[in-house]
Amino acid sequence: AEEHHATTRARLHQIQSQLDNAVRAGKLKGKVCIITGVGSLKGIGRAAALTFAHEGAKHLYLLDYDPTNLPELKTTIEKKYPDVKVTTMKADAADETTVSGVCQQALCEEGRLDVFFANAGIATREHLADTTADTFMNTMRINALSCFLAVKHASAAMLKANPSRGKNFSSGSIIMTASTAGIRSGAGTVDYSASKAAVNSIAQTSAYQLQKTDIRINTICPGLIETGMTSVTFEYARKRGSEGKIGQLNALGRFGIAQEIANAALFLASDDSSYVNGQNIAVDGDYLLLIPLFP
Ligand code: NAD
Repeated sequence: AEEHHATTRARLHQIQSQLDNAVRAGKLKGKVCIITGVGSLKGIGRAAALTFAHEGAKHLYLLDYDPTNLPELKTTIEKKYPDVKVTTMKADAADETTVSGVCQQALCEEGRLDVFFANAGIATREHLADTTADTFMNTMRINALSCFLAVKHASAAMLKANPSRGKNFSSGSIIMTASTAGIRSGAGTVDYSASKAAVNSIAQTSAYQLQKTDIRINTICPGLIETGMTSVTFEYARKRGSEGKIGQLNALGRFGIAQEIANAALFLASDDSSYVNGQNIAVDGDYLLLIPLFP
């Protein structure tokens, strides 16, 4: 297991450094993007912010309710990518005034909104018996309501900026981070799995209702990714010397890192995915393939 773990780490290091070595292809050139949940140092939101900047986004609006790491993220992006404008905000992604406000701000300042990546989320640990109604509602609010607000207000802003969407095929993209737990529940907590199933449903239903507007709405369903959210699991395994076993159940034989989810977000944000709509895309190292339907 330890030898396997060393190989995994080397592979992940290679994936992590891909962004630094990659040519800036300008896949998001001119695009105005909002990303929520960018404040965690190893998180998916931060990796997406750096990736979107690398691909030449025009203006990034970056939100997190924990402001600790926002100034450093802004400075890092502005130093490395001086052509990218960055606005950071300490903000709750599940607050309607905040979400509609940031969409309006993008319209006022840039006259357009191209991408909303609704990524902020929380995980819980309690077993069913210990899950209170308050816990359940809080998880639904942060994970699912935030995505409903994102698609409602971002799509309205996109249509307002360009009412002829669907006629001139200038594409808007709304992306949500759901989870494999939202496709096939089981190992997760009841409230977390339910909230992520809701996210998948919100995306597909909205994609259907917004058909012919050329606003595409998709979710990414990550498997096990090493981020702030899962640090307890990794720390526990590290202490027991069993880190090498994490993710070994997947045929790929490993867990993933935030950059691998950011790469999927880039695909969905860019016009490379112009024919992808209403999908819940698992980026999970094939985890879903391997968990038995009837354990
Ligand atoms: P993370 O904890 O490292 O980052 C999440 C960030 O979201 C944090 O900075 C946090 O402060 C912020 N946040 C939480 N609630 C917020 C709110 N209401 N308003 C604004 N910001 C808020 O975790 P991560 O793994 O990067 O999580 C990103 C998304 O990926 C989440 O939606 C999570 O459910 C999902 N996800 C993660 C995994 C995984 O294995 N890490 C697997 C499946 C899905």
